[in-house]
Amino acid sequence: MNIILFGPPGAGKGTQAEKLISRFNIPHLSTGNIFRSNIKNQTPLGKKVKAILDDGKLVPDETVVEIVTDELQKDEYQKGVVLDGFPRTVIQATALDKFFSDNGSRIDAFVTLSVPEEELISRILSRGEGRSDDTPEKIKTRLQVYRNETEPVLNHYKKQNLVKVIDGVGSIDEIFDRILKALK
Ligand code: AMP
Repeated sequence: MNIILFGPPGAGKGTQAEKLISRFNIPHLSTGNIFRSNIKNQTPLGKKVKAILDDGKLVPDETVVEIVTDELQKDEYQKGVVLDGFPRTVIQATALDKFFSDNGSRIDAFVTLSVPEEELISRILSRGEGRSDDTPEKIKTRLQVYRNETEPVLNHYKKQNLVKVIDGVGSIDEIFDRILKALK
């Protein structure tokens, strides 16, 4: 089962991805986690993307698509994946669609978590993960980037009838139950 978890920064994608992977026993692929771990380990990729993440901007499509498609070819992803933080542009979505169709696979569900903007900001500010992009100014940029570049991805998948809109306000378990119902 290939699931895309979508939504603005602070919507709870990472938290719900963790619950989905343990329920369905499929791996989690978070592009944000990949970048943060490369930055931490000071790899060439990490050095290339550090300033972009610090600014709350998007890493170039080419770079992200190459990383994700390389990763998805590994054995561990053959029975499925929970994608979190990808695709974030229509170009990335189109590349992902092509990858799945070239490999005789497909997206089973596109789950989007809907959370009001004030709540997103207060969640991010209180999550205390020490992320360099979790400051009020960077959150503003990330929300703007989301609206301008990422939200159009939703329409892309609406056209394919894959979108499940989930109310992302409530307890972690309540939201997870809503996702499970939508996946049935
Ligand atoms: P996240 O952990 O998903 O919030 O991602 C953190 C940061 O990593 C984003 O603000 C971007 O700078 C970068 N990033 C993660 N995923 C992508 C993507 N699919 N396309 C471009 N940049 C990304």
